[in-house]
Order: sequence, then structure tokens, then C-alpha cells
Amino acid sequence: KSGFVAIVGRPNVGKSTLMNQVIGQKIAIMSDKPQTTRNKIHGVYTTEDAQIVFLDTPGIHKPNSKLGDYMVKSAQSALDEVDAVLFLTDVSEELGGGDRYIIEQLKKVDTPVFLVLNKIDKVHPEELLPIIEKYARLHSFTEVVPVSALLGNNVTTLLDQIAKYL
Ligand code: GDP
Ligand code: MG
Repeated sequence: KSGFVAIVGRPNVGKSTLMNQVIGQKIAIMSDKPQTTRNKIHGVYTTEDAQIVFLDTPGIHKPNSKLGDYMVKSAQSALDEVDAVLFLTDVSEELGGGDRYIIEQLKKVDTPVFLVLNKIDKVHPEELLPIIEKYARLHSFTEVVPVSALLGNNVTTLLDQIAKYL
């Protein structure tokens, strides 16, 4: 199994930390699957039965200045070309404008979108359900996976869930 996964999320939610946790120090060989140049490769995760290429999608982050229509459309079609989109959020912070902006863009995407709730080590377990409900009210996510990218909690589960869509 092999495929492409895009990670989106506002700054500081833990995208780089998740990548480091998944990829580690491993350098892997690229698959020969056709790949868009609109995405920047973050890293490649390889096991005996799966290869997942993680991509960063420029243009999906809320811009400081007004972003051109072309950039937004380009980011959206880039997300249509991957097998799954991971929308990463920080559960220790309120759902804000940055998150809402990204969710609005994700509504136009045909790809399965995962809600990945990061930094669960910073909240009490009973706080998690109300947070999930807040996000679920805004969009119908394909999968919901709480993780701690920093501690590595539930990251294996996330990879297993991704493998279902490759
Ligand atoms: P990015 O901007 O989305 O790439 O976010 P980073 O990966 O740079 O992380 C931003 C900050 O959040 C860093 O200080 C990380 O150490 C911290 N961080 C990331 N993931 C977690 C987590 O699961 N738990 C905690 N407590 N901190 C985290
Ligand atoms: Mg980063």
C-alpha cells in the first residue's frame, strides 16, 4: 500500500512535531506514483506493507495578506489529489478563526479529511469530547483521531487509520 497524505493546520498546532514523530530519522525511497508539484514533501513513512508520503500544502494556511483566488484554488485541487487530508488542531487552545478558515476550505475538498486532535497530553480526558463536538458541528470529518505528537500517544492508531484510505 502506498499513498499521499496532506497535513494542514494553523501554525504551532504541531505539524512538524507529528512529522518528526512519524518519520524519525528514516530516509526512504520515493514511490513511482505520480505526484503534484504543488505540494512540498515533509517526509516519507515506510513499513514492510505501507508507504505514506506526507505533504505540506501551501495556501491552505490562513494568509496574513489577501490570498489570490488562484492560490486558494490551487491549494484545494492539491488536496483533491491526495488520498487523505490530516487537519491538525491543538486541543489546548480554543477553536479560533484560523481553524475555521481552514475548515471552510476543507469543505470544498473531495478527499477524506481526518480531524487530528493534537496535544491531548495538555488536557484532561473528559475535556476531549466537548472539544470534538465543537469541531464536528462545523464539518463532518471522515475520521477523528486524538494524538500527542510530542509524546507519540496514539500515533500508531493514526497511521493505521490512514492506511485504510490508501
Ligand atoms: P507547527 O507550526 O504546526 O509545525 O508546530 P510545531 O510542530 O512546531 O509545534 C509547535 C509547538 O507545540 C512546539 O513547541 C511543540 O513542542 C509543541 N507541541 C507539538 N505537539 C505537541 C503535543 O502533542 N503536546 C505538547 N504538549 N506540545 C506539543
Ligand atoms: Mg512547522
